[in-house]
Amino acid sequence: MEKNELLTALEALDSTSRQLDIDETERSAMMQAVTAYANQFLSSLKDAKAFAKNEVGDLSIQSQTYSLSQILTIFQNEVAANGINAASGTHLGYIPGGGLFASAIADFLAAVSNTYASVHYASPGAATMENEVINWLKNIFGFPASAVGCLSSGGSISTLIAFTAARDRHGIKNEKVPNAVVYLSEQVHHSTQKALRIIGLGDVVIRTIALDKNHRMQAPELNAAIEKDKASGLQPFLIVSSSGTTDTGAIDPLDAIADIAIAQGCWHHVDAAYGGFFILTSKKDKFKGIEKADSLIVDPHKGMFLPYGVGAVLVKDSEAVLQSNYYAANYMQDVSNETLLKSSANLSPELTKHFRGLRVWLPLQLHGIQPFIACLEEKILLTAYFRMQLQELGFCLGPEPDLSVSYFWYPFPSDTDAKNKALMAAIHRDGSVFLSSSMIDGRFVIRMAILTFRTKKSTIDKAVEMIKNCLQKIL
Ligand SMILES: *Cc1c(COP(=O)(O)O)cnc(C)c1O
Repeated sequence: MEKNELLTALEALDSTSRQLDIDETERSAMMQAVTAYANQFLSSLKDAKAFAKNEVGDLSIQSQTYSLSQILTIFQNEVAANGINAASGTHLGYIPGGGLFASAIADFLAAVSNTYASVHYASPGAATMENEVINWLKNIFGFPASAVGCLSSGGSISTLIAFTAARDRHGIKNEKVPNAVVYLSEQVHHSTQKALRIIGLGDVVIRTIALDKNHRMQAPELNAAIEKDKASGLQPFLIVSSSGTTDTGAIDPLDAIADIAIAQGCWHHVDAAYGGFFILTSKKDKFKGIEKADSLIVDPHKGMFLPYGVGAVLVKDSEAVLQSNYYAANYMQDVSNETLLKSSANLSPELTKHFRGLRVWLPLQLHGIQPFIACLEEKILLTAYFRMQLQELGFCLGPEPDLSVSYFWYPFPSDTDAKNKALMAAIHRDGSVFLSSSMIDGRFVIRMAILTFRTKKSTIDKAVEMIKNCLQKIL
């Protein structure tokens, strides 16, 4: 192309390409519209349904464009008002969190500045901020300063990072895989088995250790299983325990398991995705021994009530983490002098990613830690309160949980499972409070997971009222 031709072509593209760079007046108008929408959304939460099942309209991407106001209407009707309302305190299904407003502001700043946090050289401030979040977590869980960690998208990716380090430390590859043994409990989160498969360990031997009546792993059984496997020539290498199981809110005996892991030379991984932050509460003693683990995961998008999209992993053995995640490349040569461990890119499969540190750091600096602890203590008491109310209605309860997830069923004299299923369906049809179900010890049960910061005593009263009404319909 001639230079003149090139300049003409550039000029022709200019006004259209500029449309992406919105000017200040329009930016203000857009922010106002979004602020108004967000305020309306949040203010109406207390009367909003927890669950609604609607058909999704046409969301395909065609050649026409929409105004922001049209887009906000589409968002409200097709997304916000459809399915589980995960911002509402009435979401008591799966593992909720809520979505702190302060984090939304942090996400906005992170996106506006497009900060590149993965490499210290690119944004020393952002990298340091993320590293300070990791330091704060190490402190909470009693991990040494030499431990490493990073913020991921959630518990599943955190698990991948931790297990990859365990695999590399123990050299589990090729012909060693079918002889390697992983120990877990029936109540372990399914992301555990999934991670093993993804990292090439789908063919390891998996031992499911028996639980006590509170759904906690029985440490002596674990030890016996390891002894037996060693005696038959297998290679025990990884023990996965939970501090806060998804279905039963149980904390495995971490201290005893840690001692077994140390004595047997196994890697001890603790899944604290849901329950980890309860270590800041009166339940602290139940976490004794977590500081001896080799790795742990914890989800700020659960127990810190942050919007979805942030998990964390801590690993003591930095060499093991670097083995799979550190890679030098020519186009990265400008950054290669930076201290390896200051850049999360060397500790995670992710390179370019959202600046997640700010959405954790900002709310902590803005609110301080006390309101978080108060919210968590409140959830523990609300769980006890919910259980008392259900018992008065004649429900059977699962064992007292260690944390804030527990389950119940109604002792219908016949077709108990089928009728509890019908009760669950009636609760979903009602939708004022959302609960989910599970199978525990072969029984259909309804779970209650109390974790969002917006869940209050009035929410539990509303849930009990709804359950009472739904039960009437089945009886
Ligand atoms: C939620 C959860 C996970 C998975 O985490 P994601 O953030 O959903 O990927 C793992 N373990 C436990 C105990 C969980 O509650």
